Amino acid sequence: MTEEKKKEIKMEDIKTRANEKKCPVQKSLVFIEEFLAGPMCGKCFPCSLGSYEAGIKIKEIIEGTATEEDIVSLKSIASNMLVASRCKKGKDTAKFITENIDLSEYTEHLSGICSSKECIELVKYIIIPEQCTMCGICQDVCKDNAVIGEKRKSYLSGYLSFEIVQKRCTKCGECIKVCPYGVIKLISSKEMAEKESAKV
Ligand code: SF4
Ligand code: SF4
Ligand code: SF4
Repeated sequence: MTEEKKKEIKMEDIKTRANEKKCPVQKSLVFIEEFLAGPMCGKCFPCSLGSYEAGIKIKEIIEGTATEEDIVSLKSIASNMLVASRCKKGKDTAKFITENIDLSEYTEHLSGICSSKECIELVKYIIIPEQCTMCGICQDVCKDNAVIGEKRKSYLSGYLSFEIVQKRCTKCGECIKVCPYGVIKLISSKEMAEKESAKV
């Protein structure tokens, strides 16, 4: 990005775009990525290194690989940035992260839960078996061949719900849009693991 383009990115616009997300971790990610790509000028160390490191920690939380120590470390990065950044832009970035990090939804991510279902790594698409009518519409739209099942035939009496093969699912969300009965749902990876262990 050219210096001219970087200057065009305004802090208030970054904040507006970040707040369009529901999940506080996603808000922080949008803020930090746009700050790094735009207004962050690199003239002082606490802000340039701090925002870069904060971005890494936030991505780890979103991917479900972070621990409580990472959240503590992110808090410490943000509080250093708040105190030591040379200008208001660095301080405002630190403030935004600090305001979001204490929300309970933030720590929920450590247990594999994103309540707003925006952290796609932490969610799974499933079909509720007892409500699936075997119409096959979801299978027709899935470009990744992740939906398995046979369409219901009028001359057959058996019932076998359609199923999403998690390893193949790219979480594109197309199936959920087309299911006429609303029986495809998003659940957290944690809920999925609990369902799997309940089957054993
Ligand atoms: S705090 Fe201000 S001066 Fe320092 S790197 Fe960030 S934007 Fe540049
Ligand atoms: S979310 Fe996308 S990839 Fe996954 S099953 Fe649905 S259509 Fe297929
Ligand atoms: S579109 Fe819905 S009802 Fe039809 S097969 Fe898929 S999950 Fe079942």
